[in-house]
Amino acid sequence: MKPMQKLTIPNDRMERLHYVKRMFPQAKGDDLNGEWAGGRSNALYKLHSIDAVSYAESHDYLDGSVTHLSPYLRYGCLTLSEAFAVIKRKFGLAAESLLMQFSWRDYWHQVWFAKGNAIYSEIEPPKVALGYAPLTDAIKQGETGLPCMDAFIGDLLTTGYVHNHARMWLASYIVHYLKMDWREAADWFEAHLLDGDIASNHLSWQWLASTFSSQPYSFNKEDLVAYAGEKYCAGCTANCPFDVSYEVLNARLFAEPAAAEAKSHVIKELPVRSASTHRAVAIYVHDEMLSPTNSLLTKPFPKIFVFDPELYSNWPLNRLQFVMDCLSEMMNVEVWIGDTYEVLMQRGVGEVITQTTANLKFKEMLSPFLTKWQPADKLVDLEMSAQELQRFFRYWGKAGPVLMADS
Ligand SMILES: Cc1cc2nc3c(=O)[nH]c(=O)nc-3n(C[C@H](O)[C@H](O)[C@H](O)COP(=O)(O)OP(=O)(O)OC[C@H]3O[C@@H](n4cnc5c(N)ncnc54)[C@H](O)[C@@H]3O)c2cc1C
Repeated sequence: MKPMQKLTIPNDRMERLHYVKRMFPQAKGDDLNGEWAGGRSNALYKLHSIDAVSYAESHDYLDGSVTHLSPYLRYGCLTLSEAFAVIKRKFGLAAESLLMQFSWRDYWHQVWFAKGNAIYSEIEPPKVALGYAPLTDAIKQGETGLPCMDAFIGDLLTTGYVHNHARMWLASYIVHYLKMDWREAADWFEAHLLDGDIASNHLSWQWLASTFSSQPYSFNKEDLVAYAGEKYCAGCTANCPFDVSYEVLNARLFAEPAAAEAKSHVIKELPVRSASTHRAVAIYVHDEMLSPTNSLLTKPFPKIFVFDPELYSNWPLNRLQFVMDCLSEMMNVEVWIGDTYEVLMQRGVGEVITQTTANLKFKEMLSPFLTKWQPADKLVDLEMSAQELQRFFRYWGKAGPVLMADS
């Protein structure tokens, strides 16, 4: 990444995409696909194009009618509650299936808020034997020799978008068939997703692995063909590991007794910085609040977003371009590249106001400043106990009746 500087984001989109390439020469991968242009206006267009009835019928199929809202929700171009409200108003109970999917996002985030960095490590003992082999280059480069898995990895590395079912199959293949370390795999996967979201990603891997669920998730060829058709299998000459019954599969994958794994994820700590003695107040804009309608942007203080290498040096090009699209709509936000501490010190900041987040990295970065955390959007304002957060169906048992009630 370039040395500390204030950026001037080009209005013209093509110029903007090139500008991101120049400013982030280390960023790997393809340009952001036109279909995924970032920002609130594109988010609203996608939101208002949703057909929740067709979603209910087809979203499990790879060519089904899914919303593609995930990156817009991830970066805060849309809040989950506004997406929920728009769909509920338009489709009522016919949208239950989509509204429940929205709630999965809320659920994972509530777990992240409750557990913090513990979500990087196994939350519960695995219910089946897991393996902890390192992730191979064949996985990282999409060269497993299985057309289905290589296509999913190809989507990940090029567009950054993978259908939910394909995410589940790929993750299950890595964790249960290949017995690789889910934590390394989850980090790798999240780092390449356009919608990369620590809670939805890491907790989904834990759910599949059985370290945050009561059983592992596995699949066979029949499942794959049911939801993907013959697309991958038709010309496949590989020795298919999935072409077996569940009986054989379970005996093959889960014959060993489960053994607890003690290793936990090491979180890199930031250098200790001395507390700021400056006086200016600023709104710190982070990457979960990228909407021009965010209420903090109306406050009479400078608004500052920082591409800090600590957070963004490993991001793929398309994700940086997506974020830059979002920022280009937020006229009154100063955008910097550099170390957050140094940027805020140079701007004479002693106090920051920002939106609360479960991402403890932001808390650590802002610790030298007096920080006022303002509430983030909440899909449902209910206290959830540890028990209720232990499984989605318990969360939904409490949240569902409130969320689905006639308003
Ligand atoms: C291994 C694995 C990793 C994942 N990593 C991420 C991630 O990093 N970021 C992310 O946003 N989602 C993640 N998901 C959840 C889900 O796959 C994506 O949210 C979804 O595929 C995005 O596409 P869509 O917007 O078209 O989804 P749709 O099916 O149209 O759903 C609408 C919205 O509901 C939410 N949603 C739907 N399913 C889930 C789910 N299972 N968990 C959480 N939210 C959900 C998303 O916000 C999504 O945008 C992951 C799932 C798995 C199995």
